[in-house]
Amino acid sequence: MGFLLDLSWEELRGYLQSQGQAIYRAEQLWDWIYHKKTFTLERMGNIPKDLRMILTRDFPNPLPQQNQITFDPDGTEKFLWQMADGELVESVLLHTSTSHGQWTSACLSTQAGCPIGCGFCATGHSGFRRNLSSGEILSQILGMEQKSGERISRVLLMGMGEPLLNWPAVERAIEVLQHPKALALGSRRLTMSTIGPPPLEKFVQSGVKLEVSLSLHAPNDALRSRLIPLPGLLPIGKTIELLQYYSERAGKIVTFEYLLLGGVNDQPNHLKQLVALFGARSFLINLLPYNPVVGSSFQPTNKETIRWFSETLNDAGIKTMIRKPRGRFIEAACGQLRRKAIPDDGTENADERLHSAEKKV
Ligand code: SF4
Repeated sequence: MGFLLDLSWEELRGYLQSQGQAIYRAEQLWDWIYHKKTFTLERMGNIPKDLRMILTRDFPNPLPQQNQITFDPDGTEKFLWQMADGELVESVLLHTSTSHGQWTSACLSTQAGCPIGCGFCATGHSGFRRNLSSGEILSQILGMEQKSGERISRVLLMGMGEPLLNWPAVERAIEVLQHPKALALGSRRLTMSTIGPPPLEKFVQSGVKLEVSLSLHAPNDALRSRLIPLPGLLPIGKTIELLQYYSERAGKIVTFEYLLLGGVNDQPNHLKQLVALFGARSFLINLLPYNPVVGSSFQPTNKETIRWFSETLNDAGIKTMIRKPRGRFIEAACGQLRRKAIPDDGTENADERLHSAEKKV
C-alpha cells in the first residue's frame, strides 16, 4: 500500500476492520497525524503495539523529507521536499497581515513538475516527472505546520503542477483537508488555481466546493494557447461558461488571474478585449506583476501600464485588483527552487516551447 496519508477516512476505517482492529482507532490515528502533527508510529502512545507493527508493515513509505528551507525578507518561506522515490517538490508558506487580521497560507504542489510547459513559469521549464498522490499533497501542509510550529489557516493549490490534470488525487486530498476529523478547512479557506484543462467540466459537476482562481493570462484563444501550450485547452468562452455555472452552483466568486507580460499581453487591444470579455459578468480579475524566471526572456510590465489596466477595467465596472509579487528574493515563483536543486530534465523541450511561444506572441 505504501503511504498511510493516502487513505481517506472511509478507507482507513475499512482497512482497520480488515485487520481485525477497532474502528475507533481511525479517530486516534487521524488525531495524531492531523492535529498533533506526530507522524512516527512509536510516538503514538494510545496505539497498541500490534497495530503499530501492522501499520509499519503495510505503510512503509516515510513522510517526505525536508530538503531545504529558504526565507524571504517579506516573510515568505519556501520548502523543498524529497518524496520517498527521490522526487523533489516545492511548497511555500505565506504570512499575510491586513486590517481584517493575520493569517498563514500554504501553497501546495499537486504534481512533480508540470506537463504543460508555460514559457513564463519555472516549473514549466523543468519538465514533468509524475503526479503526486493525495498523501504527498497533504504531507506538504503537515510538514510545514510541523516545521514552522504555525497553524495554517488557508491552503492554495497553486504550487507546481496543474491540479485538474491530477484530479483524482487532488479531489481526495481536498476531501481530507475539509474533513471534520482532519483539518476541517472551510471552502473559503481553500483555493485551487487552474488553467482550465478539459477535466474542468468534471470538477464543475463534482460537488466539490472551494475558491477557484482561473489562470487566464490572455484575452483571446490564439494568444492564450501560445502562452499555455496545452493541446485541447478549452476555449475561453467555454471556460467562462463552466465557471459561471460553478459560481452559481457553489455560491462562489471566481477569480481570473492575468499575469502581465511586457509587450506580450499588455497592449491596448488586449485591454479592449478583456473589457469586452468581462463587461457584464461578476468575476474578479487579479492583475499579477511578473516574477522573472531565470532562463525566460519574458519581461514584467511596467507599473504605469499595470495601473492603466487596473483603472480602465475598474472604470468599465470590472472588479480588478493588483496583486503584490511575494518572495522575490527566494524565487517563490513555482518551480524555481526545485529547478536549482536538480539538473533540468526537460530543458531542451521546455526551451524549445518557450522560444516558439515567444516567437508566436
Ligand atoms: S504556469 Fe501552471 S500550468 Fe503552466 S507550467 Fe507552470 S505549473 Fe504548469
